[in-house]
Parts: sequence; C-alpha cells; structure tokens
Amino acid sequence: MAPRGPAPRPRHIRDLLDSGEPLFSFEFFPPRNARSQERLWRAIREIEALGPSFVSVTYGAGGGTRDLTVETTERIATDTTLMPVAHMTLVDHSVAELRHLIGRLCDAGVSNMLAVRGDPPGDPDGAWVQHPEGLTYAEELVRLLKESGDFSVGVAAFPYKHPRSADVEIDTDHFVRKCRAGADYAITQMFFDAEDYLRLRDRVAARGCDVPIIPEVFPVVKTASIRRSEMLSGAPFPPALAERFESFGDDAEAVRAFGIEHAQKMCERLLAEGAPGIHFITFNQSTATREIYREIAPERQSSSAADARP
Ligand code: FAD
Repeated sequence: MAPRGPAPRPRHIRDLLDSGEPLFSFEFFPPRNARSQERLWRAIREIEALGPSFVSVTYGAGGGTRDLTVETTERIATDTTLMPVAHMTLVDHSVAELRHLIGRLCDAGVSNMLAVRGDPPGDPDGAWVQHPEGLTYAEELVRLLKESGDFSVGVAAFPYKHPRSADVEIDTDHFVRKCRAGADYAITQMFFDAEDYLRLRDRVAARGCDVPIIPEVFPVVKTASIRRSEMLSGAPFPPALAERFESFGDDAEAVRAFGIEHAQKMCERLLAEGAPGIHFITFNQSTATREIYREIAPERQSSSAADARP
C-alpha cells in the first residue's frame, strides 16, 4: 500500500471557498524600483509566515509595471508557499496578448486569476477605449479564461456601484452577468461601512446569484489615506467617519489606533454576517493588516505555525 502523505494543497480558490472556512488574503501591487521591490518582498515574506489563504498582485495600467506584476506573481508561485492570484485587465491588450499572458502565468503554475476591465491609463475617469483587437467588459475576460484552462476566476464587485454606472440596480445586473459568465468568486472594492457590503450581497442574492463575494478591507491608518481611498475607489469616504478621523488632529498614533479598531470591528461584523473571508489591501506594507489579522483569526496563526512548511 502506498504510504499516505499529507493531503495535497488545494490549487483553486473555489476549493478553498467550498471548504466553508473563512479565507484571509492580502493584496500587493507590483514594485516600481529596486527599493520598492525589497519592501514588497519583505511584506510578502511576513505575510507568508502567517499562512494566509492566498495573496494577489494587481496589474498596472501599462508599461513596465505589467511585466513586474507577472514576474512577481510567477516568483510567488515558484519561490514561496503562497497561493498567488494574478489580476488581469483588458487595457491596451489584444485578445492574442491576453492569451499569451494567460499561457505564461499558467506555465508558472498560476491557476487563480482576478479578471477586471481596468481603467483608461492616465485618467481613470476618461473615456474607455477598447483595443481594436481586444475586449470591452470583464465578463468577456472571464469567458476567455474559462475556455483557456482550469482556472479559478474572480471578478470585481462594487458595494456603492461602479463609478461609471448610472444606477445601482443596473450595475448589479451587470455584475450578475459577469458571475454567470463563469466567475467562481468576487472581491469587492474597498468600503468603510459593513452595511454597504450587506446591501450589495442582498441585491446579488435577490437575482438568484450565489457567487461568494469576499469583502476587501483597507485599514485607514493616516488621515491622508482617506483621500487616497476616494481616488482609488471612485467613491466618497463616509463623512461621519471622516469627521472621527479628523477629530484626532495631528495625533498620528490616535488616528492609527482608531483606524485599526474601526477596520477590525468591520471585519468581525462581516465575518459574523457570513462573509466568506477578508481580502486586505496592504499597499505593500503589511504591519496594520497583520495586526488586524492576528486579532480576527488567532486560530489560523497557531495552526500555520504548527504546519510551517520549509
Ligand atoms: P466591468 O465588469 O467590465 O464593468 C465596467 C463598467 O461597465 C461598469 O460600469 C459595469 O456596470 C458596466 N458593464 C459591465 N458589463 C456590461 C455590459 N454587458 N453591458 C453594459 N455595461 C456593462 N484595476 C487595474 O487596473 N488593475 C488591477 O489589478 C485592478 N484590480 C482590482 C481589484 C478589485 C478587487 C477591484 C474591485 C477593482 C480592481 N481594479 C483594478 C479596478 C477595475 O479595473 C476598475 O474599477 C474598472 O473600472 C472596472 O472593472 P470591472 O472589472 O468591474 O469592469
């Protein structure tokens, strides 16, 4: 009888979701230079020690950072114990280029993707221009990925609606179409009130769609990050919460403590409401997200230490 070894690790996010255990994941962006490369890898190694469910790497709007996304994702797949998710976008890509990219990631052992459309480079609010031989909506990339191989594919969800959509109901219809094209899971845009996530989940469920929606959490630890969150999400920061942050004035420690407490409480509420996990934005600095993760998933830390792989 063949000796029984450890159970094979799941390759797909859909299998992790099927296990029913909450997923904890972290998002990085590609490094711009040698110094940021060093910082990114320090953060990745710190997160690796905590045994998260997966990590994802965003895809740049254009130019060299795109190669760095692919290189970073490949290196995570080959040199770490982490499960990487590659973000892919449609911006400035023909279908042939997308196929080439999919093949390259697949060769490196990447089997999980996040299919997003991307924003026009330079001006995220500018007119969307489709590549002459490219695709228009993320839904089409989901189909391309699904017909290209055995990938677990995720899509983006917008609790406040996508900034380009006139209406939250139509936006939800488009989201559900994208899921029905073959998405296994979704990750939301950042938000700061659990109710916004719950309303999105209710709208999607009302359309008969049960694709798991993982909430994305960005802990605000500096008042300046409020503006940054608005630029990135295209949504206004809740005014009452902004006032709370501003009430601490120049007391950076108090702002940080309040930001972490707020994010932690929101994570606890989301998990209590049945969210399938938490996806943390790190901006390549993992300290705040690690603090919250330690608090909300202490049992995962001890088991990851016990199962530590070489
Ligand atoms: P789509 O689903 O294609 O939707 C775009 C717009 O078109 C929406 O208004 C939608 O309602 C509408 N729409 C969709 N389908 C149809 C249809 N069939 N007919 C008519 N209208 C339709 N950007 C990056 O550049 N790189 C990244 O790595 C990246 N990662 C992200 C990760 C997450 C979790 C999230 C939430 C966003 C990310 N983004 C990233 C940003 C994202 O690319 C932008 O927000 C983009 O504008 C929308 O992408 P989408 O995939 O939701 O587009």
